[in-house]
Amino acid sequence: MYFIQSVEKLKILIKANNNIAFVPTMGNLHNGHLSLVEKAKSLSGDVLVSIFINPSQFNSQEDFNAYPKTLSQDILLLEPFFDDRFIVFSPKEDEILSHKTGTQYNLPEVADDLCGKYRPGHFDGVIQIIDIFFDLIKPRYSVFGKKDYQQLFLIKDFAKIKYPNIKIISQDTIRSSESLALSSRNGLLGLKHLSQATELNFALQELVEMVKLNSDHENAALKIKSLLNKSGWEVEYVAIRRRFDLKEATGADKLLVALVAARLNNVRLIDNIEFCID
Ligand code: AMP
Repeated sequence: MYFIQSVEKLKILIKANNNIAFVPTMGNLHNGHLSLVEKAKSLSGDVLVSIFINPSQFNSQEDFNAYPKTLSQDILLLEPFFDDRFIVFSPKEDEILSHKTGTQYNLPEVADDLCGKYRPGHFDGVIQIIDIFFDLIKPRYSVFGKKDYQQLFLIKDFAKIKYPNIKIISQDTIRSSESLALSSRNGLLGLKHLSQATELNFALQELVEMVKLNSDHENAALKIKSLLNKSGWEVEYVAIRRRFDLKEATGADKLLVALVAARLNNVRLIDNIEFCID
């Protein structure tokens, strides 16, 4: 295993390697991240996992400071994957942020909707860092989780234009036995709220059942929002969207996704479920 922190060293190590499967992360790894690494390993012998907490995607310094930083524990979790073609890249902030790619980001409108509406500039920050990593690493594959559904959509959209040779691979959300999507933010919840957090996915499951029975999406979303609010959540949005462009779904759309973002005890959690109308 190579543990690299300098961009120059990384460039020397991966020079002319056009077979890398790349997994970008912000660390505080859990089984969701490890499922992406496993997928990367199945795609290529050359795997690069980045651990970089991207400051430009946080909306407040407080949120950034609170984000768990657990590098040595992360390396231990990755150990079962180690071989002489496995790279962990954990660069310093200024080295990454000073790397210029010259790209003008013209994100589609949907970047300002859903999570983008509540986290202005968040997706610009995400895409800027993904652009820098893709430019440096030039991977063959890059693996992302569907847990961050809107992020995955925007990265696919961006890569299609600027990096058409990189295959963006998506992986299903890994959950606890009670259906809670694994997330680094779950660790910020106390035991009581961690147990309550399972309500989020159950609420989405209920929403999906309602939409399957009745095409009034707006009313169903309002009902679920109100249920969650009553239970102590501060809901940002509950939405039904079509999968192919994440725009509002109509009764004629069949391939849908239900999405939610809400805060529990001021910890922001997101989740989604893909489903079809027969
Ligand atoms: P993060 O470290 O939160 O930036 O996430 C890094 C990658 O892991 C992103 O592609 C996420 O979508 C993915 N990820 C996070 N949580 C999960 C999960 N529970 N299941 C699958 N992938 C996940």
